[in-house]
Amino acid sequence: MRPSNTAGPWLPLLLGCTLWAQDAPKTGAAPTLPELGPASALPEGAPPLLDRIDRGDLRTHAYWLADDARAGRYTSSTGQQATADYIAAHFARLGLSPLGDKKGFVQNYPLERVYLDKSTALTIGGKKLNTDFAVLHSSDKDKVNLSGRFVWCGNGAPDQVQGGLSRKIPLVVFSKPRARDGDEGAGRQGPGNDLQAVGRYVKVAQQLANKGADAGVVCLLDDQGSFGNTLNYRGLLPDHAQLRYGSGGRDLGMRIPLLILSAAQSRLLLEHVGVELDEDGAPKTAITNEKATGKLTIVVKADDKAKACNVVAYLPGTNKKSEAVVFSAHHDHVGRRLDGDVFNGADDNASGTSGLLEIAEAFAKSDERPARSVIFLSVSGEELGLWGSHWFSENPTWPLEKIVADINIDMIGRAVTDADKVGSGKIGMQITPSQDHEKFSTLVQNGVAIGAKFGITFSSGDQYYQRSDHYNFARLGVPVVFFCDGEHPDYHKVTDSPDKLDYVSMEAIARTACWTGWDAANDKDRPRELGKQ
Ligand SMILES: [Zn+2]
Repeated sequence: MRPSNTAGPWLPLLLGCTLWAQDAPKTGAAPTLPELGPASALPEGAPPLLDRIDRGDLRTHAYWLADDARAGRYTSSTGQQATADYIAAHFARLGLSPLGDKKGFVQNYPLERVYLDKSTALTIGGKKLNTDFAVLHSSDKDKVNLSGRFVWCGNGAPDQVQGGLSRKIPLVVFSKPRARDGDEGAGRQGPGNDLQAVGRYVKVAQQLANKGADAGVVCLLDDQGSFGNTLNYRGLLPDHAQLRYGSGGRDLGMRIPLLILSAAQSRLLLEHVGVELDEDGAPKTAITNEKATGKLTIVVKADDKAKACNVVAYLPGTNKKSEAVVFSAHHDHVGRRLDGDVFNGADDNASGTSGLLEIAEAFAKSDERPARSVIFLSVSGEELGLWGSHWFSENPTWPLEKIVADINIDMIGRAVTDADKVGSGKIGMQITPSQDHEKFSTLVQNGVAIGAKFGITFSSGDQYYQRSDHYNFARLGVPVVFFCDGEHPDYHKVTDSPDKLDYVSMEAIARTACWTGWDAANDKDRPRELGKQ
């Protein structure tokens, strides 16, 4: 699911997979996992194909997708491409028909990218730091070359920034927040949400620019909170471009570019210039080595050569085969943090992708064919603004007026958060459009009734109506239902890992989604809107 602080197609970030080599994947030995037990028996009246949806297979897929080797599946990255290949291979193995470009399973869409030239680096004491930083750029053509002494600018607050910064290298330190000292200083404030963090960087750039600076260096001593997370979304990293889809993209309002160093790199620089830190990790001195110099190079480039992809397949129906039901789930996530830690996105959305793969398998191997055709749509670009589903809805490879429903699953692995409840039959999910929503339909009504057979209770997920891929179908009049477990403490954190997913409830939720789609594919009538109930 995409973050809430991005109201529109937003400022992207990602990377052109052909240009940047990534670190060698960290692929450990296959984890030894506890027994899951056999799949549950089906409720009465369930279509037999549900039997193929199995907790063990869901877990196998989720662990593969959420492995560090996928590097957080950032749209257009090699990790996302590998994920798309995995999904396409699964569809091919099942004998499904391709529904992408040129009779393949892959549907590409074009992107613009803004990226750092390889010359971008900070050199100190003969050592070139060219990894583990981010740049918040001020224009697509930033070009900065500064060398000489660093100028101490404290935490970047107005009273700490001195004048005459032209051609100098201003140095700002954001230190770790203290537990409780009520300090309002910039460096001491705890990480707020991502928007506030962006606001801080913009303000610092403004202060420095007011004093004549051409660029600035920020030491981020706490790179694991919002100040670091934000850079993953909003910054340019050496191997990670910022992407733009269509005319989307918002200007941050940076007056000059800032180069922000990871905590590890920051400590190298602070040592070089003789800034001492106290026991809380906050600066206890300003620059003490007045002779320490450096060289800062920032070169930003832009082009329209990036692309990303969806993976699409279908199973032909029988007597209503020109019409189709879509199952959708996004497979992209948000990449890596500044310190290199991976956002594995196990719940978001390795869980839903695993569900989609299992649902596809259930349909493909079923003895009974559905009346309508069934499309399996695995999109990217979701986290950056629902790009892949937008592209599919605007460039449909199946006539849109013949698509009768979209069943979207995004985050289905954390419906049971209390370990004691696992297996208790208490599964809490959110669903949208709920009965309070004007787009409530027979599709949702049926989904709720089916979920009840698996012990799933639903609450309204209407706050997420525009925050996942079903929305791109809904906005064009296609009835949708969206199954989601809602936000939790690991949402968009590096702690969203596959060991935290509950594969027993995932099996029930994937079966609920599958059954809902099975009915929509076989019912005499297309799903219809009911309005608010
Ligand atoms: Zn998300």
